[in-house]
Order: sequence, then C-alpha cells, then structure tokens
Amino acid sequence: TEAAVDFVIDEKLADSIFKPRQEFSHKGTYGKVTIAGGSYGKIGAVVLATKAALKTGAGLTFTLAPECGYAILQTSCPEAMFIKSGTRYIENIEAEEGMVYGIGPGLGSDSQTEKGLLHFLKNYKEPLILDADALNIISKNPEYLRQVPGKSIITPHPREFERLFGSTENSFERLRLAIEKAAEFNIYIVLKDHHTQIVTPEGETYYNITGNAGLAKGGSGDILTGVLTSLLAQGYSAKNACILGVWLHGKAADVAAEKYSKESMLPTDVINTFGSVFEELN
Ligand code: AMP
Ligand code: MG
Repeated sequence: TEAAVDFVIDEKLADSIFKPRQEFSHKGTYGKVTIAGGSYGKIGAVVLATKAALKTGAGLTFTLAPECGYAILQTSCPEAMFIKSGTRYIENIEAEEGMVYGIGPGLGSDSQTEKGLLHFLKNYKEPLILDADALNIISKNPEYLRQVPGKSIITPHPREFERLFGSTENSFERLRLAIEKAAEFNIYIVLKDHHTQIVTPEGETYYNITGNAGLAKGGSGDILTGVLTSLLAQGYSAKNACILGVWLHGKAADVAAEKYSKESMLPTDVINTFGSVFEELN
C-alpha cells in the first residue's frame, strides 16, 4: 500500500494556527520550557535550542545541562535559567510540574545519561519533545520506546528514524513506516528531511515546503527542538506545534538564505530571523 500525503502546510494554515500575543498577559501566560541536553563539547547544541525557545515566545525558559555548560549558557542566553545536572554529562532529569521538556540536543549517550533519561521517562506522563541523542538512547532497546509519554513529539532525521524503527529503501517507505509507528506508539513523528513530514497518531500526514539546503548544517535540528518545545509550552496542541513550528523553522531559513545565502547562513541567523516571520503572521 502506498502512503498518502494528506496536507501541504502553507502560509494560510500556519497563519490560522498562530495565536498573536495578548496585551493583557504575563510570562506565566506563555508557559515554562526546559531544554535538557548538552555534554562536554556539545554545549552549542543546547545553546541553539534554548535561544530558539526564547526567540519563539516561551514565557520562562530553563536549560538543564551539565556544569561544564554553566558559564557558556548564562553568557550566551542570559534570559534563560540554568539547572545543573552532572559535570560533563547530564546525570538525571528532575520532573517539575507545569514544565514542558525538550530533551536531546547535544545530550551525548554516556551510560549515566542513559540511566537518567530512562528513569525520567518511566516516571513522566506528559507530552514532551525528544530529539537527537535522546532518540539515539531510545534506539538501544525496543522497550524504551514504550516509555515515551503518549502524544509526545519525536523529531528524527532519516538516520535517527532508521535507528529507531529499522532501515527503509526510500522516503516513501519511511513515511509509510512512520504512519504505522506513530499510531502504534501514540506519538507525533516529525520526519526531518528536505521536505519535512509530520505524522500524527491518527495517521494524518502534513508535508512542509518551507526550508532549504542552507539548513543542511549542524545545529539546524537543535533549533527545531527549541521551537517545538516553546510552542507546546505556549498551549498549542502537539499537532499545531508541529505544523506551525516546522513551517516557521523553514520559513525563517528561507528569509535567512535570501539575506546571507544558503552557503553562509548559520542556524544562529535562522534564530534571529524568527522575528521577521512573526511580523508577517501578526
Ligand atoms: P538535524 O539533522 O537534526 O540537524 O536537522 C536538520 C534540520 O534542517 C531539519 O529540520 C531538516 O528538515 C533541515 N534540513 C536539513 N537539510 C535540508 C535541506 N537540504 N533542505 C531543507 N531542509 C533541510
Ligand atoms: Mg539533530
């Protein structure tokens, strides 16, 4: 059977999902985010994810990272608060009420980190975002996927997807398998690619057409994690967070490419371009 693409995400759809900021509001209105990740030599990943969360509207943003990231994070992201776990690697993640978690950027796969993540997942029941090394850890044992809270969002690139679910011949087969797995595990799968596909637990598929090869650089995916976590914390449904987040990420990349070229644009430029995309939506 062939996998069908149900919907294409266009600006009209993104616009219909987008909720402008209310004047009579405060930081509590826009949710609490914790980006958990980073390890010695990979603190940049969690800097990017944290900045992306900050620049897409989260009310309160925390970064949970090992101590070696402390000065880096407090300097590069002064608006975010730092939560320490471990010295060079994250050792545990303490769940806090009302917090939305995005876990994975730069996390590494130290055995202590693995233990900490699995312990967290065993006790945590709210939807969250899992990316990068969090997905690589979960790939190690087929039972681990069953611990992922229902309605969570995972954001694998093709290799991470195959580590999780097995190898596929092409992107059509990957999409078909994603539809099957999203239903089986009751999760949203953001299949990152040139044209990213979002698969819902109900079997709907959304196809994104923003974004460009300027995103083919380390750090691009970390930004998406920050965006999705931020939108989920702001009260968007998991489905709408995926649709709007993936569209925003690609759209900001398109604007950044026009300004800096696909060659030179950096993930940091994408983060700094979210503003002009929001202006268009407002
Ligand atoms: P990651 O591999 O985790 O850094 O994620 C890469 C991000 O950049 C994903 O959101 C991809 O969809 C996007 N991306 C990478 N390469 C391309 C490309 N050639 N065209 C469009 N988007 C891309
Ligand atoms: Mg990645």
